[in-house]
Amino acid sequence: MTGIDNDFGLKCPECGASDEIDVCADVWVRLCPDGTDVTAAENGDTEWTDHSGAKCCACGFGGNVSDFSKAGGQP
Ligand SMILES: [Zn+2]
Repeated sequence: MTGIDNDFGLKCPECGASDEIDVCADVWVRLCPDGTDVTAAENGDTEWTDHSGAKCCACGFGGNVSDFSKAGGQP
């Protein structure tokens, strides 16, 4: 996979960025006195699907993961 800076082949369909994509994932977090700690949780799994929300922080494009993966499938 060339030109994609993540392990999921996702790329912004608007600006082509692949290293500034945020995905709204379900994660376990440990509750701490000062908030939450995602790295302290016993279960470190991160779960998201093609229907999860996603956003490109480079240009502000918002959609869901499938909007991005479609772009990643093109040259
Ligand atoms: Zn973008």
